[in-house]
Amino acid sequence: MAVLPIRITGDPVLHQIASEVTVFDSTLETLVADMFDTMEAAPGVGLAAPQVGIPLRLFVYNWTDEEDTLWHGTAINPELLITPTPTGEPDEDNESEGCLSIPGERAPLRRSERAILRATDLDGTRYEIDASGWLARIFQHEFDHLDGTLYADRLENSYAKIIAKVVRKSGWGVPGQSWTPGVDHLED
Ligand code: ZN
Repeated sequence: MAVLPIRITGDPVLHQIASEVTVFDSTLETLVADMFDTMEAAPGVGLAAPQVGIPLRLFVYNWTDEEDTLWHGTAINPELLITPTPTGEPDEDNESEGCLSIPGERAPLRRSERAILRATDLDGTRYEIDASGWLARIFQHEFDHLDGTLYADRLENSYAKIIAKVVRKSGWGVPGQSWTPGVDHLED
């Protein structure tokens, strides 16, 4: 069991396009296991490899939906098909999301209601999930990480300004910042 340091916004690995996973070996298995440990410790509902400093196209997720279905898995080299993003103002109560790489903050953001995830599992099996609601949001958020996009990059101006201010005041937005769940007491 290993909890890894989570990179904070400003670290270059979070703002670059990650590479396809090509080698399925014990190193990858260890990385995935450590990512699950880190996500659980944070706690978070999703974690992408760039967030732990590894620029690979891979994320893990752990979410129990309103019908008590547990969605717990590994998405390697994912593709994501999404319905159009709804127009209009985002709702602060129902559409606010956070990110372990901008710890402690949340802001509302419109996301597609439905997303089809196609990805490879750790054992090499390709699978597909037709997601809606919050699971679809998690997939969109994590998928974005693989292209170097944080949710803060997608916020409307007024919310983007609030987050930018917090980032500045916290001394983030520069390379080399991280926090470790269970060691540094920050929350998602
Ligand atoms: Zn995130």
